Amino acid sequence: MHPHDQTIFALSSGRLPSAIAIVRMSGPHAGAALQMLAGKMPTPRVATRVLLRDASGDPIDDAVVLWFQAPASATGEDVAELHVHGSRAVIATLFAVLSAMPELRPAEPGEFTRRAFENGKIDLTEAEGLDDLIHADTDRQRRQALRQLQGLLGNKARSWREQIIEAGALIEAGIDFSDEGDVPAELMAPALARIRQLLGEIEAVLSAQGRAERLREGLTVVIAGPPNAGKSTLMNQLARREVAIVSPHAGTTRDLIEVQLDLDGYPVTLIDTAGIRETEDPVEQEGVRRARDRASQADLVLWMSEDDRPQAMPRGETPVWLVRNKIDLLASDQMSTSGGGVSRAFGISAQSGAGMPALLEALVGFARDYFGATESGLITRERQKQSLQQTAEALRRSLNAVGRGEELVAEELRIAALALGRLLGRVDVEDLLDVIFREFCIGK
Ligand code: GDP
Repeated sequence: MHPHDQTIFALSSGRLPSAIAIVRMSGPHAGAALQMLAGKMPTPRVATRVLLRDASGDPIDDAVVLWFQAPASATGEDVAELHVHGSRAVIATLFAVLSAMPELRPAEPGEFTRRAFENGKIDLTEAEGLDDLIHADTDRQRRQALRQLQGLLGNKARSWREQIIEAGALIEAGIDFSDEGDVPAELMAPALARIRQLLGEIEAVLSAQGRAERLREGLTVVIAGPPNAGKSTLMNQLARREVAIVSPHAGTTRDLIEVQLDLDGYPVTLIDTAGIRETEDPVEQEGVRRARDRASQADLVLWMSEDDRPQAMPRGETPVWLVRNKIDLLASDQMSTSGGGVSRAFGISAQSGAGMPALLEALVGFARDYFGATESGLITRERQKQSLQQTAEALRRSLNAVGRGEELVAEELRIAALALGRLLGRVDVEDLLDVIFREFCIGK
């Protein structure tokens, strides 16, 4: 049996118990299953209240059902939605009844979306946008995912692909009609102009990349510095909840502790490092090693110190801000903050909160610069970037091949169109699909 002859079902709403739970079915037997449960077929696309019953007529739950006939449904197949009360017992009973039907089986993660993709309802970039939307933590991530789900990248890629195929057809027509193998200039010129323009558009999208990918992945800020400087205390201040152990004994924070922050819509991962120092204790040594690793990969390091000219500050590509802590213990004339190799310096009291607003404001500013002020980024994944780079390279090669034989130009255009087809998930991506859809939730 082809997988699509099977009808799948899953709980598509969140964790039980809940006020309402939504069970979806998709596939050729969704209608028969709904008929059996509801005792009748509801009008398509109209919410209908029914008493769901099992095979022997025992009531399961009072429900609202929806019926979508293929191909006008989310997956492109027959789809039934059962909105039931979100109790574990209702779902367990309903699942037992559905599982007893031989044509039905529980869905794999992402299987509904995969069917939508395979039935041409969405392209691969839209499927990726859908996955990002479900996993979006902050408002900006949500907007970006929605743009992708709405097909902004996909629509562009489709249009580019069509134009490349057209330009290629023009050139090939010229090859066929010319006697000496030279394509007449009046045919070549418009095709080449088109290719140059497309290349410019693709390069513009590629150069805005990075930002969008970063927004998807978030920014990493590491809090580092000598033991007892107040790193955990700062972490708690920033996270506004107790996440790290604050203790007066040096070296109590043995491991990395991470929190996810939503800084004005920007996703920021904050990492509190174990006190970076020489130690004999092997457990602590491991903590120190990992702290150094993470700090070296961070996008920003907050170096905490009680000193205004601290030793052992990391130097490298990563910007380091000196955060001089415990200013509450200082007399006001000791307040100078300076230090070599520091891009910015702040004086705070992690304990009282003094100086925190300025630090937070600077962090939001850093995030804004890092992610880019505009939201025009369309590429959110390495896969998308690679396909577009391959397209751009093939277009460049096709332009370079002009004068060395039109067949070469046409061949490079075919390669460019193929790379865009791959971006949309229309050509040889079978091996990719498992990887992409596995990341989805069950019921999606
Ligand atoms: P860590 O080892 O760098 O994580 O340091 P902790 O956050 O555990 O802090 C070490 C000690 O310094 C604790 O006793 C904190 O209460 C104290 N501490 C942290 N920040 C401040 C501050 O701004 N002022 C004062 N007076 N004490 C602080």
